[in-house]
Amino acid sequence: MAITALTFDLDDTLWNNRPVLERAEAGHYQWLSDALAAASPGAGSAFMAHYPLHAYQQHRADVARRFPLKRGDFTWIRERALFEMVEAYGLPRLRARLWAAHAIAHFLDLRHDLTPYPEVVAMLDTLRRSYRIAAITNGNADLKRLDLADHFSVMIAAGELHAPKPDPRAFLAALARLRARPSQALHVGDSWREDVLPAQRLGMQVAWIDAKNEGPRELPPGVYRLTHVRELPTLLARLAS
Ligand SMILES: [Mg+2]
Repeated sequence: MAITALTFDLDDTLWNNRPVLERAEAGHYQWLSDALAAASPGAGSAFMAHYPLHAYQQHRADVARRFPLKRGDFTWIRERALFEMVEAYGLPRLRARLWAAHAIAHFLDLRHDLTPYPEVVAMLDTLRRSYRIAAITNGNADLKRLDLADHFSVMIAAGELHAPKPDPRAFLAALARLRARPSQALHVGDSWREDVLPAQRLGMQVAWIDAKNEGPRELPPGVYRLTHVRELPTLLARLAS
C-alpha cells in the first residue's frame, strides 16, 4: 500500500543529540550551584561540592524508581530530584521548588539549543508536499520551541503520555491524528528497540537510521536500514516506484 504518512523520531534521527544533552546536563546543574551560592553567600560549601553531578544522576534514578507512573517523563523526574536535593541542602520547601523550576527552565533552554543536520530542513520542506508528517519523541525536546515546528502537523510527546516508546500508544496516537493506517505509514528512527520494533509490529514500514553503526542485523520485512536521514528521500522514491 502506498505510503501517505511519515512519523519521525527526533533525537539522534534529525540531529546529533549527544553533545546537546551533555551541554544541557552539565550547564543547568552548574547554573543552579552558582545561583545558590550567589543567593546566599557564606552559606558554606557550594551545592555541587555536596552533590556532584553523579549524585544528581543517581538521585534521578532513585526518583524514577519511587514514582513509576512518571516513567518516561524525564523533565518531571529531573525537577523532582533537584527539588529534593535543594531542600536536603537546607532550603525551605517553597524556595527549593522555585530553584528547581528555575534550573529546569535553564535546562530546557539548553536542550533546545541544537542544530539539525544540514539536510533536514530542505528535506522536510519537500516531503511535506507529498506526505502528512508527525514527530514522536520520548525526549523532552518541545518542537514548538524549535525552528522545525512548521514542518510537522502532529507532535506526540510520548513521555508526557506516560507511554514512552516502545509502547505502541504513541504511534497509534500519531497515526490517528494523521488519519493513516499503519500500512500507509513509515516511521523514521534510530533506536532498534524504541523505534524499529514497535513500529514494525504495528504494521508500519520503518526506516532505521543506524546512526551508531550497530552493523548488520536481520531486518524484518518492511524495515530498511539507512546510515543517515539524508538517505530517506531516495528510499521513499524507491518504495513508491
Ligand atoms: Mg532517537
